[in-house]
Amino acid sequence: MTSILITGASGFLGSNLTIRLIQEGNRVIGVDNNYTGRMSNLSRIINHPNFTFIEHDIIEPLTVDEKIDQIYNLACPASPVAYQGKHAILTTKTCVYGVINMLELAKKHQATLLQASTSEIYGEPLEHPQQESCRGNVNPIGIRSCYDEGKRCAESLCFDYMRQENVSIKIVRIFNTYGPHMDPNDGRVISNFILQALRGEDLTIYGDGSQTRSFCYVDDLIEGIIRMMNSPRSFCGPVNLGNPGEFTVQELAQKVLARLRPNGKISYQALPSDDPTRRRPDISLAKEKLGWQPQVALDEGLDKTIAYFKTLI
Ligand code: UDP
Repeated sequence: MTSILITGASGFLGSNLTIRLIQEGNRVIGVDNNYTGRMSNLSRIINHPNFTFIEHDIIEPLTVDEKIDQIYNLACPASPVAYQGKHAILTTKTCVYGVINMLELAKKHQATLLQASTSEIYGEPLEHPQQESCRGNVNPIGIRSCYDEGKRCAESLCFDYMRQENVSIKIVRIFNTYGPHMDPNDGRVISNFILQALRGEDLTIYGDGSQTRSFCYVDDLIEGIIRMMNSPRSFCGPVNLGNPGEFTVQELAQKVLARLRPNGKISYQALPSDDPTRRRPDISLAKEKLGWQPQVALDEGLDKTIAYFKTLI
């Protein structure tokens, strides 16, 4: 039985990953400080004999007595609403101190560490679509930089632990992901639009809605992450994981309205600073190295996500 530690286990991606790995017969130790995660996300497996939950903030070192084979480091506030403002410093600490603590744990256990990096490291993209070779165009002093630069530093630390300490590392750059277990309050565009439509409120578009994103359904993303973790040691990435289907925010709003409130209205609000104007992953590397590509188109994924949010209302 593979023994797997997952940080951010009660969050959106962490809980989906934890549930799948438990269902596949693995031993899972879930770690979270429950700052942005929710224990209700883990209710299906919380009492499973192969699952243990540790409430812990990875900013602090973590000791685990039992043997660990794999560490998925997913812990971090991930939505702009969660990481900006008064939690900015905490976000950088989680990225930097957190990955150091998890890399030290990986070194001690001779475990492989998979780091959840992000399309945000490309900043305002200079190339489109974004390939892994793209070095990024990030504002180092802006309101998003706690997350962007934190994640960039985490990638750098992973590579230095590999070169200096021979730790086995894997880096995935995750593009916008959606689906069941998204936090209804974290301000992401898909959760906001669906909840606003269900509540009969206007949909809030920031800016004119011409900015684009490429939305990946969570089951596809989790499949890619697991394939990356179990790929040969020599392939450490970074590798883009996302759905190349690209939509404007305006198009997304129309899709949600068509499903839930055909006569609903849109309220246009100020665009947050440094909000990337476009984003689409080039997934050639994931296709070649992992045999992975998304299976769920946005229309199908939106239907599943709407069904999930209806259960919360
Ligand atoms: N956005 C929007 N209305 C909302 C929430 C977000 O128009 O209620 C926009 C946001 O400005 C960005 C895009 O949707 O251009 C995606 O935002 P999200 O926070 O989901 O992800 P990220 O900015 O991290 O890609």
